[in-house]
Amino acid sequence: MAEYYDLLGVSRDADADTLKRAYRRLARQYHPDINKDPGAEDRFKEIGRAYEVLSDPQTRARYDQFGEAGISGAGAPDMGDMGGFADLFETFFSGFGGAAGGGGASRRRGPRQGDDLRLDLSISFNEAVFGQEKEVQIRHLETCDTCKGSGAKSGSGPTTCGTCGGQGQVRRATRTPFGSFTQVAPCPTCEGTGQVIADPCGACGGQGVQQVRKKLRITIPAGVDSGTRLRVAAEGNAGQRGGPAGDLYVYLFVQSHDKLRRDGIHIHSDVAVNYLQAILGDTIEVDTVDGAANLEIPAGTQPGTTLTLTGKGVPKLGNPVARGNHLFNVKVQVPTKLSNHERDLLEQLAGHHSAKDHPHKSGLFGGLFG
Ligand code: ZN
Repeated sequence: MAEYYDLLGVSRDADADTLKRAYRRLARQYHPDINKDPGAEDRFKEIGRAYEVLSDPQTRARYDQFGEAGISGAGAPDMGDMGGFADLFETFFSGFGGAAGGGGASRRRGPRQGDDLRLDLSISFNEAVFGQEKEVQIRHLETCDTCKGSGAKSGSGPTTCGTCGGQGQVRRATRTPFGSFTQVAPCPTCEGTGQVIADPCGACGGQGVQQVRKKLRITIPAGVDSGTRLRVAAEGNAGQRGGPAGDLYVYLFVQSHDKLRRDGIHIHSDVAVNYLQAILGDTIEVDTVDGAANLEIPAGTQPGTTLTLTGKGVPKLGNPVARGNHLFNVKVQVPTKLSNHERDLLEQLAGHHSAKDHPHKSGLFGGLFG
C-alpha cells in the first residue's frame, strides 16, 4: 500500500482541516456508486484507511514514528495472544487492547487513555555498569495549552454531530462481487465521537492535543543491560477527553567496549603476560571498570588460565551492593626476538633441561611445575 500521506495527496505536516478536505474530495471521486472504473473501489478503501489513521492524532503520531508497523493492529479486537511479542507490542497497541467495556466506535466517545511510546536509547558500557543521568529528547502528544484539551475555541463547546445524530456511527452500503452489505462504520464527520466542534481551536485543529518536543532527564540505574526496559510514567501521549496519559518506555542498548566484555554481572577481558611472568609469577596492573587494579599472576600460570578479581564486575540491577567478578583470560607471550645475553641464559637452561630423563619432574622446571 502506498504511503498514507501520498494516498491523500497531502504533506506530512498537513493539519486536520487539510486532511479532511483531501479525504472528502477523494472519497467523492472514488466512491463506488459514482466511479465505475476497475480499481476505484480498492482505491476508495485505501483512502478511507489512510484517513482513519491520519485523522486520529494518536494513530497518526504512531504512524509517523513507526510507519505501517505501528498501526497494523489498529482496530483489532484483541491483542492478547501476541505470544513472545506481547511485551514489545503492548507499547504500540495499548490504545486498542485491553480497554474495558464497549467495542468498536462507541469506545472512542468516552475519555481515552493516551498511547504508550517507545524510545530506543544507546548508552556506553560504563554507563550501563554504574548508572547515569541522561537527558533525552522525545516527541509526544500533550494536552493543548490553548483550549485545555477541549478542542473548541474559547467560549464555544462541542455540539451534537448532525451527520450521525450523536450516535457516532453511520450505516454504509458496501457493494462487493457477492452482493450489497450494510456496514456500521464510525461517523466520518465526528470520527465516532458523536460530537462536533463548530469552532475548533486554532492551535490544535480541534483535536485537543498537540505534538510537542520535550527534553527529559532519565535516571539509568546501575547494572542495566541491553534489552532492559525503563518505564517513565505519564510521559507517553496525552489522553483525550480527560483520559490519562500513556507511559514512555525506554529500551536500552549497551555499546560494546574495546577491551571489556559483559556476561550478565561478570566482566571478561584478556590479559597478556610474558613467559617469565607466567613461570616466575608477578603482580601486574590491569584495567577494570573501577580503573587500574593489581592482579597477581601466580608462579606457573598456564596459557588460557582464568584469574579472578572478586567484586570488580557489574552491580546487580536493583541491589548494587552485590557485584559480579572480573575474569581475566591469561595470554602468555613468547618472544620472537632475544638479545644475545637472553639467548645464552636460555641455552644454558635448555642444556640443563635436556640432560635429564624426566625434565618435568626435576631441576628448575620440576620445582615450578611439579
Ligand atoms: Zn487546542
